Amino acid sequence: MAASRSTTKVIVVGGGGTFGASTALHLLRSGYTPENITVLDTFEIPSAQSAGNDLNKIMGVRLRNRCDIQLSLEARDMWRNDELFKPYFHNTGRLDCAVSEEAISSLREEYQELLDAGVGLEKTNDWLETEEQILAKVPQLDAGKIKGWKAIFSEDGGWLAAAKAIDAIGRFLKENGVKFGFGGAGSFKRPLFNGNTCIGVETTNNTQYFADKVVLATGAWSPTLAWVFAHIQLTETEAAAYKGIPVVYNEDVGFFFEPNEHGVIKVCDEFPGFSHFQQHQPYGATSPKSISVPRSHAQNPTDTYPDQSDITIRRAIDTYLPAFNGKPLFNKTMCWCTDTADSSLLICEHPEWKNFFLATGDSGHSFKLLPNIGKHIVELLEGTLSEDLASDWKWRPGSGDALRSRRGAPPQDLADLPGWRHDAVSQCAVRARKFST
Ligand code: FAD
Repeated sequence: MAASRSTTKVIVVGGGGTFGASTALHLLRSGYTPENITVLDTFEIPSAQSAGNDLNKIMGVRLRNRCDIQLSLEARDMWRNDELFKPYFHNTGRLDCAVSEEAISSLREEYQELLDAGVGLEKTNDWLETEEQILAKVPQLDAGKIKGWKAIFSEDGGWLAAAKAIDAIGRFLKENGVKFGFGGAGSFKRPLFNGNTCIGVETTNNTQYFADKVVLATGAWSPTLAWVFAHIQLTETEAAAYKGIPVVYNEDVGFFFEPNEHGVIKVCDEFPGFSHFQQHQPYGATSPKSISVPRSHAQNPTDTYPDQSDITIRRAIDTYLPAFNGKPLFNKTMCWCTDTADSSLLICEHPEWKNFFLATGDSGHSFKLLPNIGKHIVELLEGTLSEDLASDWKWRPGSGDALRSRRGAPPQDLADLPGWRHDAVSQCAVRARKFST
């Protein structure tokens, strides 16, 4: 294996994002020759359109799927101990809250799963039954806003400085001589084949790259859903009172994070996501079909989010941070992910194209795997992926409705929602509609 590692050429498409950057890193760490690793992306690392290019993301051990224990514990260990990653883990703790009867019951189940996992999580997770216990962990919350809440407090949770962590991988790859293509020279157009074996890719500026294996880690640029977030700015004194606050999450409200070094707090609401259905003809399809495709904020910088998200984000602020109700929201953004029907990843060789590997299906909760996911993608390339992971991540068409996924309801489509699009095309479209009615 060692000899073939030094000679095998690998292209990572989407290498400026979460899974792709991690894959390139683990190829390098496993002994692949740097000049034989080619990272392609539309934008430089950290790619401006990566879901991971964000102020912060939640870190925590949660057990949604069979393989979550292994993956979460590996990730936790690397965020804590790996020199490349540990500066970006803020181990503030994590408070998962619920208030409705149904949500409390599923939170209790989640807690029991943590206890039953048999890997010591009972030592780091506490059930908080009363408002007083919750306030003892997060005194910044307003007692009047958390009536009837129950919670799990996880000591081993916290938040990840997401864009900075991907950037650290990017710098490491550059320092070590990995090859890159960005812009038109990095934007995937089509795979190149010899028979049914993939031998490389062509990018939108018609550059051809040849390799033994190709990994496609294009995240939401495989079919998609969007979520939203916005930010508020605190003064130095206001921010000081929130320093070190645990990440607070409630699935009926949303979540927020400790202010960053500039006093900025990111607030997200929680809902089943937005879709963006368009007629689109993916490579290999014989005709266009209706697919939910992302609209990159990096390529459409005037896009914000639908008007209705202002209401739900404001509701989250009113619940968690009522003292800041009057603060303006800024950097209102939609962020794109790929849901699978069962929320498991889709990481496998293409069923018909040999040496073409998919690494996607993040289902909105996979940033925390940045340190370790690439290790398993390299195992897949080498044929050593464990049976458990291979079975969870296999190609599985017809396994359910990815639009519904495990979320409470299907997404609303952006076409039906005003407020998010501010470019000239949208104004024309709105005017055209007005005249035609
Ligand atoms: P990405 O990181 O998006 O990477 C895809 C890459 O493909 C990008 O760099 C893009 O530029 C590139 N690309 C696209 N098209 C092409 C092309 N044609 N050619 C070349 N390159 C291309 N996860 C957590 O663990 N914790 C959280 O708290 C959390 N919060 C979230 C909050 C929001 C609002 C959102 C949207 C997501 C959140 N997630 C969270 C999920 C997490 O961000 C994603 O699961 C993860 O980043 C997905 O990684 P990826 O590599 O699949 O996609």
